[in-house]
Amino acid sequence: MSIQQLPDTLVNQIAAGEVVERPASVVKELVENALDAGARRVDIDLEEGGVRLIRIRDDGAGIAPDELPLAVSRHATSKIASLDDLEAVATLGFRGEALPSIASVSRFVLSSRRDGDVHGTSLQVDGGKLGEAAPTPHQRGTTVVVRDLFYNVPARRKFLRAERTELGHIEEWLRSLALARPDVELRVSHNGKPSRRYKGDGQPGLPGVSSGDRLGETLGEEFARHALRVEHEGAGLRLHGWIAQPVYSRASADQQYLYVNGRSIRDRSVAHAVKQAYADVLFHGRQPAYVLFLELDPTRVDVNVHPAKHEVRFRDARLVHDFVYRTLHDALAETRAGMGVAVST
Ligand code: ADP
Ligand code: MG
Repeated sequence: MSIQQLPDTLVNQIAAGEVVERPASVVKELVENALDAGARRVDIDLEEGGVRLIRIRDDGAGIAPDELPLAVSRHATSKIASLDDLEAVATLGFRGEALPSIASVSRFVLSSRRDGDVHGTSLQVDGGKLGEAAPTPHQRGTTVVVRDLFYNVPARRKFLRAERTELGHIEEWLRSLALARPDVELRVSHNGKPSRRYKGDGQPGLPGVSSGDRLGETLGEEFARHALRVEHEGAGLRLHGWIAQPVYSRASADQQYLYVNGRSIRDRSVAHAVKQAYADVLFHGRQPAYVLFLELDPTRVDVNVHPAKHEVRFRDARLVHDFVYRTLHDALAETRAGMGVAVST
């Protein structure tokens, strides 16, 4: 076979394989876009675990009518313009891949209106095929509708799980978001019924400066009752959040939340540092529960490691590890003393 340039739609569908694993990844990408646009409230309507319908409506800045086609084009983004921007990226998005990927594997409608626009504009994309932009009634902000995810990719659709399972993944991701953004109101409905509401507490967008309320609302009163507040700064690093006292430990690692500059991520080295800090106060096999926010200069962490951005790479991973270990070890000192554990430093 001769070498051929692949058509755009196919390129987007291939990229969708990395970015869009399941309905929860669609919700993640779309809600992150809403937050990047400065939304104060996001409405998330789902049907059949998000497989049939995902509708995300925000009250953010909106998109210029003539830029709607660009928003669904590959590698088109308003968030970075240069390598320097990439190295200091402060938004959740920057790859310009999510909308074109999602639109290539669903029946997709993007509608938006900015302050000052006389009406909204909407653009339909069907399995990657672009329609014409048309005027539509819309409030300030953006609505994205994603129907029939993977309808044109049977191989992918086959891997979708039961409605309950897919909904569970969405709810888990929303929980991690709710912890980081207590300032944003999130309203979720499933199959036409309100299913979850996180009230925004009105604090301006300070990721991680969460009221204890949201901790209880999100992870349960038991955690909130046993939470130790952590707050420490040094060497250009800042760690804050809550860790559970050892009496509130878990059988699995299901309540371990780590955010780096407001982005929810997994990091083995940090997870190890936490475990080590708990080593002498937890029973063997038990898992600590924590919600930790690490902040550092964006140039000291590479967020462009994975298309779905689940991981980051620290420029000084050792320093981060030791900082986390030391901070939590000290935070647990009282507990350790109370338990009669020999204090080592
Ligand atoms: P990225 O977020 O990496 O820039 P996306 O494909 O997710 O890429 O979105 C493309 C562009 O569309 C964004 O850069 C932004 O300008 C615009 N956009 C997407 N969603 C929204 C939204 N909810 N509100 C305002 N603008 C949006
Ligand atoms: Mg995005």
